[in-house]
Amino acid sequence: MSQTKVGVSEVPHRQNDARPALSSKQPAVAAAKPPAGPAATDRDRGKEVIEAIQAIRGGPRVLRLYMEMCARCGTCATQCPVYFGKPEAGYNPVLRSDLIRRLYRRYSTPAGKLLGSLNGDCRLDAGILSEWVESFYSCTGCRRCATFCPMGIDNSVITRKGRGIVDKLGLTPETMKKVVQISLQTGNTDGASPEAFRAAIQFLEEEMREEHGVDIRIPVDVQGADYFYIPPSGDVLVNPEATMGVAKVFHVLGMADRWTMSSKCFDGANYGLFTGNDADMKADNKAYVEEAKRLGSRVMLMGECGHAYRIMKMMMEPQKWWGDLPFKIVNCMEFTAHQIRSGKLQFDKSKNHRPVTYHDPCNFSRSCGITDEPRLILEASCQDFREMYPNRAMNWCCGGGGGLSAMDDIQQFRMEVSGRKKLAQVRETGAKYVATACSNCKRQLGQLMEHYKDEVGVGGVHDMLSRAILINGRAADRTSYE
Ligand code: SF4
Ligand code: SF4
Repeated sequence: MSQTKVGVSEVPHRQNDARPALSSKQPAVAAAKPPAGPAATDRDRGKEVIEAIQAIRGGPRVLRLYMEMCARCGTCATQCPVYFGKPEAGYNPVLRSDLIRRLYRRYSTPAGKLLGSLNGDCRLDAGILSEWVESFYSCTGCRRCATFCPMGIDNSVITRKGRGIVDKLGLTPETMKKVVQISLQTGNTDGASPEAFRAAIQFLEEEMREEHGVDIRIPVDVQGADYFYIPPSGDVLVNPEATMGVAKVFHVLGMADRWTMSSKCFDGANYGLFTGNDADMKADNKAYVEEAKRLGSRVMLMGECGHAYRIMKMMMEPQKWWGDLPFKIVNCMEFTAHQIRSGKLQFDKSKNHRPVTYHDPCNFSRSCGITDEPRLILEASCQDFREMYPNRAMNWCCGGGGGLSAMDDIQQFRMEVSGRKKLAQVRETGAKYVATACSNCKRQLGQLMEHYKDEVGVGGVHDMLSRAILINGRAADRTSYE
């Protein structure tokens, strides 16, 4: 792919958009709030930051390299959805990463120690830390910059380091803090009880009975079931069609008694990834691994949630956080795509006659390589599937990655800055429905369509399957899903 390189101070080319101009109002990115408890002085906080920066030297090699080798070519800026949305210094990936790089050079290298303030502004007062919060929470962590950087630098790793430091200081934005707390307390980011979960499952079973005239079960807490399905809680409580789709797949395969969900662990979402807090991320993760062991499952079947799957499959498993595992980790889209390839599922595509496009969630496409499977499911179940370009590992972020989608206090920023490119991409397809495999992407895309009054539906991949799959030779008996 050809790309225009610009210097860090230059403005990248912006594509024309045939639609009315988007607002140019300043975004209101969440500002840091002082931590609860005894007030930490600037000096205390500064000391903590410097210690964290110095620790980079003893940490993963890759981060050390990112600290030392940026060529300052500006390519990352041209490929960043945030800088595309508002090409100004505060949103430039290099300058954001420099917030940490500068301190690393000053406090962790011999030359830095020798030259002191010649390394640039290394102050660490409350105002500067507030800028840190704003800056690290205006990166979606999408890793698109890393795909194009000639030196392979992944600015999202530096962003996560910055967020981790901010978190240690107690300055993580309140909305994010709350999501992590709720998840650690209740096992899910919605704070739903097992009773609420069971009621939601009962409702879904009734819906499926109405659609197909037969009982399609969603087993719960079944000891010894081979497959333990873990969706994002949104796919049970908010947009439950994906979970209905998965239930229908098991039903058609004659495997209704071989899978289960858990009334305690029904949300793969894990915001410790987004706040940069490894201890929180691992604590959240451990409960799910323990539950899989307790149930005696052979397969942990992850749902349509990119970051949940990434943590399980690309981080927890290879890094052996909890040793060797007695189960395999598979994504539900891989499972379903395999069944379609084997000819075991049939569809009535006319049930999805409107043009449908697919938004690749960054975590699935760039970080896990799951790109063919959702397309196979959509092409099998939709009459008019259209690609958006660029796609797969080159796709643009929805603008709500890195947990930003959950932050209502920065909605204007998400709509008018970070989501601009995605909006243009969706419009170019002419699609009337955007399918995506991530609750955060769904929320961001749904809000984008509403904000710009585009009449485009948003939902999951298994949602489309659920509408078209044949059960006893017939697709769902339903005409409206809106
Ligand atoms: S991070 Fe990579 S793409 Fe960005 S300026 Fe540095 S070398 Fe260039
Ligand atoms: S991770 Fe995404 S949002 Fe963050 S700097 Fe890179 S391209 Fe921009």
